[in-house]
Amino acid sequence: MHLRCVRCDRRYPFDPLLWRCDCGGPLEIEGLSPFDPASLDGSTATIWRYRAALPVPPEVAPVTLGEGQTPLIPDRWDGRPLYFKAEHLNPTGSFKDRGASLLTTVLKEAGVERVVEDSSGNAGAALAAYAGRAGLRATVYVPAHASPVKRRQIAAYGAEVVPIPGPRSAATEAALAAVAAGAAYASHVYAPVYVQGMKTLAFELWEQLGRRAPSDLLLPAGHGTLLLGVYKGFAELRSQGFIGRLPRLYGVQATACAPLVRAWEQGRPVAAVAEGETVAEGVRISNPPWGDRVLAAVRESDGALLALDDRATLAAQETLARRGLYIEPTSALAVAALDALRDRLGERPVVVLTGSGFKTPPPAPDDWQRQAADFAARHGLRHGPAVHALDLVSEVGEVAKELLLATGYGTRPYRPRPALAGELGDALYSLLLLAESCDVRAGDALVAALDKYRARLAARSAAGSSKE
Ligand SMILES: [Zn+2]
Repeated sequence: MHLRCVRCDRRYPFDPLLWRCDCGGPLEIEGLSPFDPASLDGSTATIWRYRAALPVPPEVAPVTLGEGQTPLIPDRWDGRPLYFKAEHLNPTGSFKDRGASLLTTVLKEAGVERVVEDSSGNAGAALAAYAGRAGLRATVYVPAHASPVKRRQIAAYGAEVVPIPGPRSAATEAALAAVAAGAAYASHVYAPVYVQGMKTLAFELWEQLGRRAPSDLLLPAGHGTLLLGVYKGFAELRSQGFIGRLPRLYGVQATACAPLVRAWEQGRPVAAVAEGETVAEGVRISNPPWGDRVLAAVRESDGALLALDDRATLAAQETLARRGLYIEPTSALAVAALDALRDRLGERPVVVLTGSGFKTPPPAPDDWQRQAADFAARHGLRHGPAVHALDLVSEVGEVAKELLLATGYGTRPYRPRPALAGELGDALYSLLLLAESCDVRAGDALVAALDKYRARLAARSAAGSSKE
């Protein structure tokens, strides 16, 4: 068993702490025993059933919470049969437990005591739980915009949570600074062991489908490490002659942040894109380091990469909840892709439900924006006072709701997202349009409001300087 650089092909002896080549390229594990049904460990209903194909010697005790062996639920979509793989039922509520169980086992065995990770939530929660189980100290750097529920979950497992303002990549930089200072990087993106844990999903599906591969596999793709992991698993099954061909792999991204899809459509290498806002926060990755490998795996499988917007995602989340499947928006992305792929799917498609709805619930029934949009659509409203009023209600409602929730109804301090000022501006603009459509001279109103606000600022700074 050794490590090989994906970029420059350099080889290293296996080292559990090595996560990147000297050239900066990501590393892969090679030289493992391939999957063999004869070596399954029937004594456990976890990913450790497949331990003979994992990079852990047989005498090592796994750090486990019962991850893997999740239900494969038959269902129908648009009249056609399919399966949902219920990865949201893993111990910490996401598929990341497969990688975290394996990685913490390897790091603990290597004598590591302190681990760091950067994550928008699911990977951080998984690492925190397994590190706690293993008795390792964990620090998780999370983007300040990550779901508060996920942040609380990470902290509950005993990990130190460090919110990092700015884009998702800022959290990675913070983690790398800690790694440079001596911590072990337990990265769900870079650690070569992690993706090996994802392979077990392929083996499980093969067993659950009666020793057959799915015809198609739909999953959300941010970094694309889940996609790469299942690709590796099915490639092993194919190399051993257990399946004839790979399932078609469909990686689904959010329109607001879709570097893989852009490269796929343009036929170019993956390059960074702007990190737009999306409800699918788990795949909000602007520059995935494994991108080109993901594209190659999708191409080899005869699949595709596609992007969907938040509206389709939230609608899919609601549809699944009505069927008893409570998943987060990032997972719903892959479900939403079913409509787009309708005519391409084979006889046995599987959609991976990656994360639990407990972490990022569907919008509350008082979601102003959605209600206003629905109301306008129902009544055929286009322009004029009614629409401006609805816009105003929805925009002010959203801003107010965010402030109230983020501050615990005014009991906690809060550093607003930079975008919030813009959203407040949208609300003011809607107010002016409304005023205008009611024949109020909006310009006069705005000048009056600004005068008042300026006077307030002046009074506040006068009060501040008199204290000094
Ligand atoms: Zn290299």
